[in-house]
Amino acid sequence: MFYLLRRGSQAGTLDRSLLDQALAAGVEVRFNDRVQRASGRMVFAGGPRRADIIAVGKVFDTQMADGAWLALKPDLAPKGYAYLLVHQGRGTVASCMFTGFRNQAAHLSATLDFFERHAGLQMTNAKPFGGFGNTRLPRTAVQGGTPLIGEHAGFQDGLAGFGLRYAIYSGRLAAQSLIHGTDYTKAWKRSLQPALRTGVVNRFLFNLAGRHGIDFAVGRLAGPQTRSVLRQAYRPSALKTALFPLARYWFRAPLSDPSCTHDQCDCVWCEHGALPQSSASR
Ligand SMILES: Cc1cc2nc3c(=O)[nH]c(=O)nc-3n(C[C@H](O)[C@H](O)[C@H](O)COP(=O)(O)OP(=O)(O)OC[C@H]3O[C@@H](n4cnc5c(N)ncnc54)[C@H](O)[C@@H]3O)c2cc1C
Repeated sequence: MFYLLRRGSQAGTLDRSLLDQALAAGVEVRFNDRVQRASGRMVFAGGPRRADIIAVGKVFDTQMADGAWLALKPDLAPKGYAYLLVHQGRGTVASCMFTGFRNQAAHLSATLDFFERHAGLQMTNAKPFGGFGNTRLPRTAVQGGTPLIGEHAGFQDGLAGFGLRYAIYSGRLAAQSLIHGTDYTKAWKRSLQPALRTGVVNRFLFNLAGRHGIDFAVGRLAGPQTRSVLRQAYRPSALKTALFPLARYWFRAPLSDPSCTHDQCDCVWCEHGALPQSSASR
């Protein structure tokens, strides 16, 4: 039903594999070198510009059997979801919240407690991780003639905050536009915009869903047809097209959560730059 992959700098992770491919292709990679000014033919790929979603969790070693668990519950992850994934002795558990960021520590603690009780969560060598994402729906993905890709452009699934495929796919479209002179705007609008819009409508509906709506969704997802339920949810339809103009204006309304006002800040979303963002781990 889904691909399970690891993030980070170690061998075998997505990020490390992409780096190795780039180096093998002769790319010069400079770490800790922030680009300040646009020059020449570039692609802007700077990631999220604001925090609409934050994820906090732990990666760990475990003796648990492989499995995947999803929980939809406001005290675990407001307007979002909590998950536990275990594969071959490694696991990740997280709260992915779309609002209520200030209580991130309480939501993570409730998530750990929930999975201990319901899935027998056992962790050794647990390490914390966190990160943030945005859910902006782009009208344009070109800035001063330069293509924007991934979350920098706002390419992100509005419902779940899944942006990896969008980032990689839009990167390819942008590269093709530079190498072959194809029209980037036409290309992303044709191949990415329909699903982006469906994600926005899905998020709008999810935000509206009360307790009964969530129970209904859980019932459908937990049934034997999970894959087709998800496929249907992500398929553009006449109803979703009709709802889109409304959804576009309201899908982020409940998500806004003014950033850090802590004295002793340890939040993962604030942008004052005192703390580096740790890498995502799924
Ligand atoms: C905890 C977490 C879990 C996630 N899980 C999933 C998941 O299960 N599935 C999924 O599909 N998506 C997931 N996502 C979202 C996914 O990680 C992002 O959508 C995706 O990584 C976006 O890729 P990107 O290349 O656009 O941006 P990023 O991966 O954010 O990369 C942008 C990079 O640009 C660098 N940068 C920024 N400005 C500059 C500058 N001026 N000069 C040089 N470098 C700069 C940043 O440091 C960063 O390394 C998750 C995100 C988080 C935080």
